[in-house]
Parts: sequence; structure tokens; C-alpha cells
Amino acid sequence: MERLIYADNAASTKLDADAFEAMKPYLLDNYGNASQPYSFGYEAHNAIQKSRQTIAECIGANPDEVFFTSCGTESDNWAIKGTVVNNKQIAVSNIEHHAILRSCSSVEKNGIKISYIPVTKSGLVLVESLNHVLSVETSLVSIMLANNEIGSIQNISELAALSHSHGALFHTDAVQAVGHINVNVRELGVDLLSASAHKFNGPKGIGFLYIKKGTPIRPIIDGGSQEQKLRAGTENVASIVGMAVALKTNIDNLENNTNHILNLEERLMNHLYKADLDFIRNGSSKHIPGNISLSFKNRDGEKILHRLDLRRICISTGSACDSVNTQVSHVIKALGIDESYAKGTIRISLGKHNTPEEVDTIATELINLLSAKR
Ligand code: PLP
Repeated sequence: MERLIYADNAASTKLDADAFEAMKPYLLDNYGNASQPYSFGYEAHNAIQKSRQTIAECIGANPDEVFFTSCGTESDNWAIKGTVVNNKQIAVSNIEHHAILRSCSSVEKNGIKISYIPVTKSGLVLVESLNHVLSVETSLVSIMLANNEIGSIQNISELAALSHSHGALFHTDAVQAVGHINVNVRELGVDLLSASAHKFNGPKGIGFLYIKKGTPIRPIIDGGSQEQKLRAGTENVASIVGMAVALKTNIDNLENNTNHILNLEERLMNHLYKADLDFIRNGSSKHIPGNISLSFKNRDGEKILHRLDLRRICISTGSACDSVNTQVSHVIKALGIDESYAKGTIRISLGKHNTPEEVDTIATELINLLSAKR
């Protein structure tokens, strides 16, 4: 089969072989229900608790502050809907993932006021901009740690401290950050943090929400007593185990992975800068390694994606969850870049498995495509 170049790691990542191996026994042999009070059930329960401990260590939390969910989307929904206070206000940045924005629209119908915080041209929330929307009515501020489309990393500790000084809780969607940069919940000073395993070489359909001890939050899924009676549903033992192994592997190799990916990024950008192309690179200099958002003048990002697909190269125009929507994304719009560039936006997201040769091929194909007469 013709080679495939996968450069859409912000959408999903390849499952680590170690994580897969660790999951297998819980799919084939130790399939007991972790809630059952016999030793076969305890084995599953112990595997969950060990994984919880591993994940907690990776993010600087206590194990009883890590709650397993089905994905990043659920974690985001829970953070918004589980903390909502009647007649109060929620403040979010205008470049949040739809899991946050649509959760906000949902609670807005119940009379909650939603304030949208603008970002700079590099996709950053300034402290002044947050300050502008905060009031005594603000019950929750939710600002993502790293953006999925442009990779910009926010100064979360400053934004969280300001929110707390107004009496608001602070949530961060760290789905793009966990496993890719150092994430420590105490250093960030957040009350709630969302993560998703498939973004850091774990399995799909599993995530977690960090909930700082004492944070007032209600369940959004009713049922059994799992997860301290806060998140009902029989635990996905194998996926929880796989998620913990994948996260630990990425954290243990964080420096090597980061250097490798940043070298690839520089290599790709050097190729593109040398070519005679009219484009801008979106996002801030502090970004998730390998997340490269480019806007080409008078081009169509969708067409670029499909042409590269014909050459078995996977890239994206932005958010994986919104690939059916061919309009300029809300994130690119929020940056305020000229429409003639905005429509020609693509996202290349490199990961630890990409190679220099793959990057050279991506650059060559992209340059050929964009230099060709239309
Ligand atoms: N938040 C961000 C920033 C994301 O990038 C994504 C996925 O693309 C999500 C939330 C949703 O995560 P999941 O795919 O696990 O539902």
C-alpha cells in the first residue's frame, strides 16, 4: 500500500504499543466489573486506582481529584453544566472548543449570562480583557490552556488568579496540552481541568476531569456510585489503564519528544519560508510543539486538504470536530486576519512519530500544489 503521512496529531494520535499491551488483559481476561465485591472485581478496581495515581502524579494532583469520563467533550460539558449557578455569569474565551461553547449555549437557555472574551491576533487572552468581563456575578471562567487550531498557550496561572480574586471558579480545557507540555494543576492554580487520552497516544473514548478538592460540582450523569458518586457508569477499565500508560510514557519522554517535534517544525517552516508563497503563520510563539496553522493568500484550505489527501497526506483545516463546516472557523475569525488569508487556512500538526523525510514530503507537495498555475 502507498505510504501514508499522518500530520493531523491535534485531531487524534496513534495508540502507543505499550498502552495497547497494558489494555489487553482488561479486555480479554480481567473483564470483571470494578464495582463488584469479589476478588475478580477488586483486580479491575485496583487497576483503576493505580491508573488514577499515575495520572495524578503526571499532572501534580491528588488521586481523589482525578475523575474518569468518556472523553474531553464530556469533561468540558461537566465543568460547565456541573458548576452552573442560577442567574450568574460564565466567562469564556471566544476561541474555545465547541465542547465548551455549545455547553455554554445550552446553559444560556436557562438564563445564565455568557460573556465572550476576545483574543489578540496571536490568539491570547489578555489579563485586561478578562478583567473587563469579570464581575461579582461571574461564577465560572473557562479558558483553554492550548488552542486546538492554532496551538497558542495561554498564561493560565495569571488568568486563574484574577478569576479567583473575583470569587469565580476557573476551568481550563487542557485537551491539547496534557501529554505535550508540562501541565501541573497546582502551578496553574485551576479548579477544573479537562483532558482526553486520544490526544496523547492513548485510546479514544476516555478522558478525565481534574476537580480540585472542595470544588462545588454536581454530576451531569445520574446512575451508580462510581467516581465518588459524581460520575455514574461502569468504568472503562482497559481504556483507563491505557490512558495512564500513554500519559506516563509521554511525560517520561517529554523533553525528547518536544525536541524532536520542534526540529521537525523548524524544518517544515524553513522549506516554506524559502519557497515563494504568500502566507501567514497563525498563533503565538508560545505554542504546542508541532501545531502549525498557516493561512495562504487567495487559497481555499479545503481544496488544499483534499489535494494533499490524494497524495495520502493527512492534514486539517482546523478543528477535527468541525470538518463538515467549510466556513472560516470561529478561531481564525477571532484572530481578525484578512479574509483573503483566512479562507486559505490549514493546520499541520506534527507528532512524535513523524520523521524528517515525511516533513520534506509534506513541504514538497504543499509547495508544488501552491506554486502550480490555477
Ligand atoms: N477540547 C479541545 C481543545 C479539543 O481539541 C478537543 C478535540 O478535538 C476536545 C475538547 C474534545 O475532546 P474529545 O475528542 O475527547 O471529545
